[in-house]
Amino acid sequence: MQFLSLYFHIPFCRERCTYCAFNIYTNLDHLKDAYVDAIQKEIRWLTHGEKVHTIYLGGGTPNLLSAEQLKQILDAVQNSFDVIECPEITLEANPGAVTQRYCDELRELGINRLSLGMQSAHDSELSLFGRDHQNHETANSIRMARQAGFDNISLDLIYGIPHQTLILWQQTLEHALSLQPTHFSLYALQVESGTEIARQIKYGALPAPDDDLTADMYDSATEILGKAGFEQYEISSWGKPSLHNLQYWYNLPYLGIGAGAHGYAGGHRTVNVMRPEKYIERLSRQTAVMEYPRTAANQSIVKIDRNEEIFETAMLRLRLLKEGLSRAYFEERFGESLESHYGAVIQNFKTQGLIEERDNILTLTSRARLISNRVFQALLPEKK
Ligand code: SF4
Repeated sequence: MQFLSLYFHIPFCRERCTYCAFNIYTNLDHLKDAYVDAIQKEIRWLTHGEKVHTIYLGGGTPNLLSAEQLKQILDAVQNSFDVIECPEITLEANPGAVTQRYCDELRELGINRLSLGMQSAHDSELSLFGRDHQNHETANSIRMARQAGFDNISLDLIYGIPHQTLILWQQTLEHALSLQPTHFSLYALQVESGTEIARQIKYGALPAPDDDLTADMYDSATEILGKAGFEQYEISSWGKPSLHNLQYWYNLPYLGIGAGAHGYAGGHRTVNVMRPEKYIERLSRQTAVMEYPRTAANQSIVKIDRNEEIFETAMLRLRLLKEGLSRAYFEERFGESLESHYGAVIQNFKTQGLIEERDNILTLTSRARLISNRVFQALLPEKK
C-alpha cells in the first residue's frame, strides 16, 4: 500500500533571520485565523483515498499558531483523510518560543516529533543570524518538551557561518550532543541573494563562507556525530530517520498545503501562490472539487513525465547514504534496468570514485557527498 504525507506551510515569523530566503512574512499576524480557515478549505478539497502516515507543520514558525489553531488543522485532516493510527506528526519550533503549557498542548494534539531550530550554541552567531533566541533557551525548550512526553526531538544546526572557526563549530556540535536529541539536520549556510547576510557580505561587513573550511566542518561533524552513535542516513541527516523526510527521498507522494507550499501527488508537482492574502482569497472563491491534486491555490501544476520521475527518484535515493539506489527497486518501479537507463553514467562515476556498489545497491562515496550536486547533474534527462 502506498502512503501519503502532508506538508503544511505556516508562513509567519517574528523577524526575518539574516540568511532566510523562505516564503515568510513578519507583519501578517492579523491573518492567522483566516489563513487557518483557508488551510482547512484546501484540506477538504484535497480529500483522497490514500492513507496518511506523516504530517509535517513547517515554516516559517508554526509555533506562532495557537494550540487551538493547530487543532483546527489536525481535526480537518482527521475528518478528510484516512489517517493511520499513530502518524508521525512533526512541528518545527523556535527555541525560546515554547512554554511548558504549549508543549503539553502539542502532545495532547498528537504531535509527537519536534524539530527545533537551534542553529548554533554561540550567542554571537545567533545574533549574527538575527535569531530571536539565545543558546540557553534550546536546553530549556528541550527540557519542557521532554516533560510533556516528547521523545523524538530533532535539532537543526548551521555551519559555514562567517567568522565561525572549526573549534566553534565543534563546540556547537558537542553542546548539541549534550542535549541528547534523537536526530540532527545539519545545513551549510547558503548565501541567498536578496538576504541581509548576502548584502553584508557584498559590502564587506562580513567575510564570505570559506568552501574548504565548510568542507572540513562537514567532515568533522560526520566524525563527531558518528563517534557519538548517530548514524548518517542522508547527506544532511543523522540519527533516527524522519519518516516524513524519507517520503521525499523515496520520491513518494505528499501534498503541499498552504501559501507557497510544494507538493508531489498524482504524478504532478504543485506550487501554491506565495502570498497568504492571495492564498486565502483564492480558496474563498473555490466552489467545487478540481481534478486531483489541483486546488484554486495552485500557482503552477506540472505533470512529471517518466524521465523526470526516474531522474528525481535516482537523485533522491542517492541522498540516502545507507539505503542508496538499489537495482532491484529501480527495476520494480520503472520496469527497466538501471543499467539500461544509466549504465554509462554510473560506470563513469565508479571510475571517478564517486559512486560505489555493494550487493547491487549504489551509494555515494564519502568524497562524493560534498559534491553530490555534480553527480545529480549528470543524471538529468537529456533535453529534447
Ligand atoms: S525562523 Fe526560520 S523561517 Fe523564520 S525567518 Fe528565521 S530562518 Fe526564516
